[in-house]
Amino acid sequence: MKYLGPHVSASGGVENAPLNAMQVGATAFALFTKNQRQWFSAPLSEKSVSSFKENLEKSGISADYVLPHDSYLINLGSPDAEGLEKSRKSFLEEMQRCEQLGLKMLNFHPGSHLKQISLEACLTLIAESINMALDKTTDVSAIIENTAGQGSNVGFSFQHLAYIIDKVEDKNRVGICIDTCHTYSAGYDLKTEQGYQQAWSEFDNEVGFKYLRAIHLNDTKKELGSRVDRHESIGKGLLGMEFFERFMKDPRFDNIPLILETPDETLWASEIAMLQELTK
Ligand SMILES: [Zn+2]
Ligand SMILES: [Zn+2]
Repeated sequence: MKYLGPHVSASGGVENAPLNAMQVGATAFALFTKNQRQWFSAPLSEKSVSSFKENLEKSGISADYVLPHDSYLINLGSPDAEGLEKSRKSFLEEMQRCEQLGLKMLNFHPGSHLKQISLEACLTLIAESINMALDKTTDVSAIIENTAGQGSNVGFSFQHLAYIIDKVEDKNRVGICIDTCHTYSAGYDLKTEQGYQQAWSEFDNEVGFKYLRAIHLNDTKKELGSRVDRHESIGKGLLGMEFFERFMKDPRFDNIPLILETPDETLWASEIAMLQELTK
């Protein structure tokens, strides 16, 4: 079965996110557990945590299909000592918030070398950062997202993801989220039948499907290999409906959260219904 839903708003409190997901017919969703433009936030109140759990139950969505996303400020591969320390502290807090909410995963963009250190040095710092966070938590996994490779962002090649995983000590608590928009922008041609098969077999060879824990299911505004990250609504971008049909029928993506980060939220309910229809 395919579990699908958008990155919903948590404004007014995390407890509102499951209700927002329910409203668009979601069976999965993503959220920020705090303001994503701030380094640190006040701890979650007990009341907020308990209403989140109640509302999640009410929504009928299993915690297994909820994929929190961390703050955009965090750079776990930062070449700057102060920036790295702040990122690691903020990331740990986010991991702990997930644990409090009874959620099993935290999705994050790996990091950027800011043209100050080598790619390998950056990837190694990211792996060390993950090890530090896993060391201080018990129930939550670190889910690395592939990037479009914009600017000095690392993680646009499947090899980068494999390099990081290789250096993570607890392999049971590290995983991958593949964003279909980023993958195409990074140069993997998911659009054509042949390109689709090739990209996923390359992923399997380099990283392994056993590490695939989630998908960001987005169409894209930017060309193959452009390394530019611009999401588009389902079927309205360069990937197109043929890709989404192939994807929704592919059993390799059963039973993991498939998250829409598409730009027009008024379309979410119809995007979900349309995509679920394609599985039939
Ligand atoms: Zn994404
Ligand atoms: Zn993106």
